[in-house]
Amino acid sequence: MIVVTQNRKKCIGCNYCVELAHAYWRMSKKDGKSVLLNATEKRGMYIIRLEDEAFEANEAAALACPVKIIQVKQL
Ligand code: SF4
Repeated sequence: MIVVTQNRKKCIGCNYCVELAHAYWRMSKKDGKSVLLNATEKRGMYIIRLEDEAFEANEAAALACPVKIIQVKQL
């Protein structure tokens, strides 16, 4: 399992995470920030546990994120 987190309030809406990991991320039409699909919100941080197969795409998104607000941890 892996854990992906997003500090969403700092998102600048660049779309890189959506491009690199489109199975897990969408852009919000409401506020122009990305949404980590099915994530749970806790004090502004969005968090989700995913299967190991999600690691590569989300790690690519984390590395590409210009404001470094995506974190991917392997459990
Ligand atoms: S890559 Fe980072 S800044 Fe860009 S949309 Fe995704 S979370 Fe937001």
